[in-house]
Amino acid sequence: MSIRATAAYVDLGVLKNNIKKIKLFAAKTKTCLVVKANAYGHGITQISSVAASAGVDALSVATVDEGVMIREMGVTLPIIVLFQHSKGESEAVCHYNLTPVISSDATIPYYEDYCKRHNRKMKVHIKVDTGLSRMGVFLEEVSDFAKSILRYKHIEIEGVSTHLAAADSDEEKLLNYTKEQIDKFMTALKLLEKNKIKVKICHASNSASTLSKAAVHFNMIRFGLAAYGYSPNKNNNIDLHPALSLRSKVLVIKNIKSGTAASYGATWKAKKDTTLAVIPIGYADGLSRSFSNKGKVKIKDKYYNIVGRVCMDQTIIEIGKNSGIEIEDDVLIYGDDSVLNAQTLARTINTIPYEILTSITERVPRVYIE
Ligand SMILES: *Cc1c(COP(=O)(O)O)cnc(C)c1O
Repeated sequence: MSIRATAAYVDLGVLKNNIKKIKLFAAKTKTCLVVKANAYGHGITQISSVAASAGVDALSVATVDEGVMIREMGVTLPIIVLFQHSKGESEAVCHYNLTPVISSDATIPYYEDYCKRHNRKMKVHIKVDTGLSRMGVFLEEVSDFAKSILRYKHIEIEGVSTHLAAADSDEEKLLNYTKEQIDKFMTALKLLEKNKIKVKICHASNSASTLSKAAVHFNMIRFGLAAYGYSPNKNNNIDLHPALSLRSKVLVIKNIKSGTAASYGATWKAKKDTTLAVIPIGYADGLSRSFSNKGKVKIKDKYYNIVGRVCMDQTIIEIGKNSGIEIEDDVLIYGDDSVLNAQTLARTINTIPYEILTSITERVPRVYIE
């Protein structure tokens, strides 16, 4: 196998261990692993194919295409499509037996038509908007919405769900917001019950709410980030480990004179005679340009500053004289490291670990370790 010097190493054992620990927080509930956005950069096909053996009961994706890809590859677990899709995607949803979470009735007649033609039934989940103002129908509409769906003979409402806006916060005001959302969701469940509409699966919890002290799990959790080893909450007592580490190698080392600039725009200049190393990773691999003159990497237990701008394909670091670093030495960009992980990198450039992880692009090979 030929792999680039730059690769993302994914430890499947670590992933499975994280899942095991998370399951202890939500004992007795079903678990749905979120594998959208290429499994948060970890590789959707590989992660989906080990999910069942990691003990999850379902997978969820953001787009129909993602669902089709993993179904075609042989995944037999239920696949939930988290977001409303377009009419044109309805045929694929039915054909590949995906479970859509619907926020509009636009696609329902298409499901009905397909199911009639193929003499089968299909399951949908209803999304309730309890305060995110994104997907979902309002509480006041939920009963009528459900009834209108049940007029179609081939469609079963298997689940009801909502999504929380601020479950990762422990600020008083936001805790109250989460509580209001949960209350609204419970009211929606009661309304359905009152109308004799039975649903088997109720789900509201993402990673943050699964792990929070005020957790309400209903009977299925949908979690992504925590499985990959990061907790969205500041305070909790779960020991998760990042499953992915992004690594590269030193390919060029050069000595430069004091006053010499490095990289585009000459934004950095050497204050003294020094030594630089060039690493074959750039923003087109997912190392954001925002790390220009800001980020660090790790080589043999020491941290070195990124100097000058991160380029499309290369990054330059200052290793200084007599570092002992040699060509082909391993470089940690980030991973299971207290200084360099997706969470600390996110803080450095004012974003969230989700964005750091999903930024790893297709040209970075993923290497799986058991
Ligand atoms: C992405 C997503 C999740 C998973 O969120 P995590 O914070 O990664 O656990 C759950 N539900 C919905 C609707 C999502 O879009």
